[in-house]
Amino acid sequence: MIVGPMFSGKTEELIRRLNRARYAKQDVFVFKPLIDDRFSKTKVVSRNKTQIHSLAIEDPELILEKAKQYKVIGIDEVQFFPESIVEVVNALANTGKRVIATGLDLDFKAQPFQNVSNLMAQAEYVTKLLAICLVCGNPACRSQRLSTGGEGRILVGDSEAYEARCRKCFSPTPQPPAPKHITNPK
Ligand code: ZN
Repeated sequence: MIVGPMFSGKTEELIRRLNRARYAKQDVFVFKPLIDDRFSKTKVVSRNKTQIHSLAIEDPELILEKAKQYKVIGIDEVQFFPESIVEVVNALANTGKRVIATGLDLDFKAQPFQNVSNLMAQAEYVTKLLAICLVCGNPACRSQRLSTGGEGRILVGDSEAYEARCRKCFSPTPQPPAPKHITNPK
């Protein structure tokens, strides 16, 4: 599991690991949730513009069928999938496949996403990444919802709707964006 807030480089890390497996001539296949079409419908794309071809799906069961002949399975943004993703990932791992998945550990109120919590607990390896707080420059573990964004627990957005904040600067209520320059950089 690769977890952390938005803007922490989870997708970039996923792509890095998948490419490394490819260099080792391991067959790799990548899935992403259909709802997440921020950057592309057919690719997983990082903010760094690295990308990897992927299949966008709604029903996690499809992964079982499509992943059969692959050794390494990548799944981006597991928090957007229904609960059955947990069972599917475990089923794949139980057959000896390597599953690398990314997910937001916390929603915009800093409450855990259940899928991600469960998968973190069951995974052999968990990498927790941090972003940088836009207010104070410290390591950021929260995704701040901005008042300029929309509503609902699931809001697929980017820097217009969220920014990275540390525990101290975070608020569960949507906030105006941080000023352009960090006032007190560490
Ligand atoms: Zn801060």
